[in-house]
Amino acid sequence: MNALNTITHYVNGEHIDTQSGRYAEVYNPALGEPIARVALGTAEDVNTAVAAASAAFPAWSATPPLTRARVLFKYLQLCQQHTDEFAAMITREHGKTFADAQGEVARGIEMVEFAVGIPQLLKGEFTDQIARGIDAWSMRQALGVVAGITPFNFPVMVPMWMFPVAIACGNCFILKPSERDPSASMLHAKLLTEAGLPKGVFNVIQGDKLTVDALLDHADVQAISFVGSTPIAEYIYARGCAKGKRVQALGGAKNHMVVMPDADMEMTVDALIGAAYGSAGERCMAISVVVAVGDAGDKIIKALAERTSALKIRDGMAADAEMGPVVSAQAKQRIEKLITEGEQQGATLVVDGRNCKVAGRENGFFVGGTLFDHVTADMSIYTEEIFGPVLCVMRAPDITSAINTINANEYGNGVAIYTRDGGVAREFVRQIQIGMVGVNVPLPVPMAFNSFGGWKRSMFGDHHAYGPEGVRFYTRHKAVMQRWPNTASAGVEFAFPQMK
Ligand code: NAD
Repeated sequence: MNALNTITHYVNGEHIDTQSGRYAEVYNPALGEPIARVALGTAEDVNTAVAAASAAFPAWSATPPLTRARVLFKYLQLCQQHTDEFAAMITREHGKTFADAQGEVARGIEMVEFAVGIPQLLKGEFTDQIARGIDAWSMRQALGVVAGITPFNFPVMVPMWMFPVAIACGNCFILKPSERDPSASMLHAKLLTEAGLPKGVFNVIQGDKLTVDALLDHADVQAISFVGSTPIAEYIYARGCAKGKRVQALGGAKNHMVVMPDADMEMTVDALIGAAYGSAGERCMAISVVVAVGDAGDKIIKALAERTSALKIRDGMAADAEMGPVVSAQAKQRIEKLITEGEQQGATLVVDGRNCKVAGRENGFFVGGTLFDHVTADMSIYTEEIFGPVLCVMRAPDITSAINTINANEYGNGVAIYTRDGGVAREFVRQIQIGMVGVNVPLPVPMAFNSFGGWKRSMFGDHHAYGPEGVRFYTRHKAVMQRWPNTASAGVEFAFPQMK
């Protein structure tokens, strides 16, 4: 293990190793082999990072917003030049196909394109003469040191939901990336430094629960942004709030697609194959359940089965790969166990992805595309977030029953409806209890200048991620009233002030 390359922390512009002596192995999931080891931070490591970020905050928050934006503009250009380097890192440690990884980087870069315009959103409001000789205005100020804790499935993009916005608003940032695919965080750090970001404004602390707990408990961390699974999101929210922090914690998902009998079935099947099996189903916006209304299920099941069986499953770097491995041996084992349970609990297993072997990659963590029909709401393949390439088809007699099923589900991240009927789509959009809705769009992931977030147990907190909501999350509103003593004093007032 010691022969493996070590991925360290990045604090105050320097690579530093952990004081704990603890490391975790980082795998290439297509090979099924460790390729590096990552430091696991301690509370002391976190203290060092928070001290560096706190020291950098006064100067960075006092830097004019446009000067801050210009650093990010340079970083944006560097990201564009390093897209393929980022993408190759993603494929190597996560497993998704190289083309999919390039798409992830592009969606991350979009966040920086938004962040360079943030000075426009930091403007306050001014009211002249709210009372005689008094003006009022509002301003938004940076919070201080803020931290981001991110999941394995978007090692480039999800951190970029957070730090470009936080930094553009004048905060100093500590990133705790997933320990499964930590390399991209170091490339972010390198490029930000190259772009001219002062030391201590962006720091990376690698680690696990111990590291996260130290960030949650540190008195000088003002806010926590988290993206990951629901049980951990709930834990982060409760512990962070109890420590008086501002917290946004985005959790897991179970995303449905309603297919109406009048939908364009070819378009629907194309959309489902990409949305269910892209990134091996390891997307928080992946479609994992089809709610087929009326005879829609009979219309699509054969085509879905053929396309699922024909998926090109390869090492993500293969030029023709449509789907790569899942992230770890444990993930593979868990997904295959759920497939077995689905079969035992009475769902029809139409395509079985267990025992998937890829030539030349026999030790890789591959699971084949899996398709179930006649799934019901009590089965574990429906109640659990599988986070793998498994698509479940449920049958519903009508749209009302489809909506009721989806609204009863504990998750509320994304949803889609495929139909040609505008009236049905409109009513669906109004009634569905989900944060992001697609009409004939399978993955309705908002652009950077909008904001992203689920409802129900897919998100804990008040502000959605990135976009204008992100700016609100990373700034505090201040209201100011000002009078200059060039008018005679009105004397002592004991009554509550009224504007006359
Ligand atoms: P995870 O919850 O296991 O880990 C997320 C982060 O939390 C990691 O940095 C990890 O080190 C840390 N962590 C793990 N266990 C912890 C603990 N007990 N205490 C404190 N910190 C802990 O999630 P994951 O497996 O990396 O990612 C997949 C999950 O993320 C899925 O549930 C997926 O739906 C979700 N996700 C949600 C969104 C969204 O926007 N809602 C986006 C991407 C991923």
